[in-house]
Amino acid sequence: MRVTIHARTLRLRRPLATAFGTIEHREILELEIEDGDGFAGRGEAAPLEAYDGVSTARARAALEAYRDVLQAGDENRAGGELLDACRAADDLPQALAAVDIALWDRAGRRAGQPVARLLSDHGLDAVAVNATIGASDRATAAAGAAAALRAGFRCVKLKVGTGDDAGRVAAVRAALGPGPLLRLDANGAWSVEEAVRAIETLAAAGLELVEEPVHGLASVRALRDRVAVRIAMDETAAVPGALASGAADAVCLKLGRCGGISGLLACATLVRASGAEPYVASTFDGPLGIAAALHAAAALRIETPCGLATLDLFADCEHPFVVRDGAIAVPSGPGLLG
Ligand SMILES: [Mg+2]
Repeated sequence: MRVTIHARTLRLRRPLATAFGTIEHREILELEIEDGDGFAGRGEAAPLEAYDGVSTARARAALEAYRDVLQAGDENRAGGELLDACRAADDLPQALAAVDIALWDRAGRRAGQPVARLLSDHGLDAVAVNATIGASDRATAAAGAAAALRAGFRCVKLKVGTGDDAGRVAAVRAALGPGPLLRLDANGAWSVEEAVRAIETLAAAGLELVEEPVHGLASVRALRDRVAVRIAMDETAAVPGALASGAADAVCLKLGRCGGISGLLACATLVRASGAEPYVASTFDGPLGIAAALHAAAALRIETPCGLATLDLFADCEHPFVVRDGAIAVPSGPGLLG
């Protein structure tokens, strides 16, 4: 098996202020595998050090170890065996994701089927997605919500815990009108008491859910008992035991953290078994990661809007993922991108 690793820099149109620092560009590591029979598959590792603690150099070292594993030995080994061998060499989910995604892409191309179809006979044709607004003032937040509606979104996520939350939430709801979903993400900025007060006030705007209002399983559980709005875990989903805990109403899953498509399916199964609802978001992934997440979300029939409409944040990244009627169509050709 021939294996190539290619680093790709994606520049953001505007520096993005997040709870974990300002991001100006993304370093994505693309992995291509190709068989003797000519079928190729591509995947990517998109670690985001400020968020998941994994540097590009760390992910690259893991991918180089995987290249040695994949190039040695029988190329007809099953995908699961290849992944296990890579995991034994270096257990890094963000890098294993690249191998897993590439194997699914290759399997789809070989079968002449989209990846979602290999995963399920009953997948969705399109995956509902949200827009994200990080503006710190009311007017810009409202303008962002209006622009999201014009761009076809039916769900908007507003970052909160950053000052003037009440004013911005009201302005965004006014710009959206009553129909579209409004979701808040506090990135764990609040204590339980602060979250109770904030959510009681902000709920008047009509909220779909509040993502990561507080950090930690005990805090999420305590808060959920005290508010009438649905609570989702994002950062806290990385805590051991979180996925099966049933502590939140919904759990945000990331492809990198789960180790690719196979890991994401397994994580979603755990979440559903706990009675909670999974949804998927990118960590500003590249087109291959977004495609992989769309196929997985479609196969899982996830109807909670997913945070996968992030490619337009990049200045120079062509992609086929247009938002229509609040959703992105899943590529219907062979493999990941069709
Ligand atoms: Mg979040």
